[in-house]
Amino acid sequence: MKWKDLVYQAIIDHCNKKGSRTFSLRNFLDDKIYFFSSLKPNNRHIEEKVRQQLQFLRDSKLINFLDYTGNYTLVASDLLDYEKREVQHIDLSKEKPDRREYIIETYVRKAKWVKMAKQILGYYCIFKNCRNTFIQEDGTPYIEVHHIIPLCHGGEDSMWNLSVLCAHHHRMAHFANKSVKERVQKFLLKEVALRIK
Ligand SMILES: [Zn+2]
Ligand SMILES: [Zn+2]
Repeated sequence: MKWKDLVYQAIIDHCNKKGSRTFSLRNFLDDKIYFFSSLKPNNRHIEEKVRQQLQFLRDSKLINFLDYTGNYTLVASDLLDYEKREVQHIDLSKEKPDRREYIIETYVRKAKWVKMAKQILGYYCIFKNCRNTFIQEDGTPYIEVHHIIPLCHGGEDSMWNLSVLCAHHHRMAHFANKSVKERVQKFLLKEVALRIK
């Protein structure tokens, strides 16, 4: 197997294991360095080699730079194993309100408010310079619609309260610590207000 394919397969495996498409170079190397050195025992520059392959994978649009701190995101059109599992075993009645809201937003794609938000705000994450997406079977970029103020906290399905986010930033909006969540909420309210004016 070529180095590039090897690294790509290892990334898919790594993402499946941690249950996220987002990964850092550091954690990826920690997870896979022994695997690579066992396959290429004569190579003394594995880390450099892997970094170089990440470049190539980026050029081929198989992974994206997520930010400037060494975080990447896997860009593949297939559902990863953990994502298939996630969709199959959802029992909404057992979820806490915040988590339930996130799940509904993520998997209920036909609702009127989802269509409306995409039509008006577009198909790219509202965070500046965020290109974290992949192309779906129907040819459109993948995007998630988010209620800035959650329905369970009195938010509503109105344009001022809807935003479009990539999977990473959507999780961040729901599951980051309180101060980050508040900053995201402020930013989104402001940004959406500007766009729908
Ligand atoms: Zn949301
Ligand atoms: Zn984003």
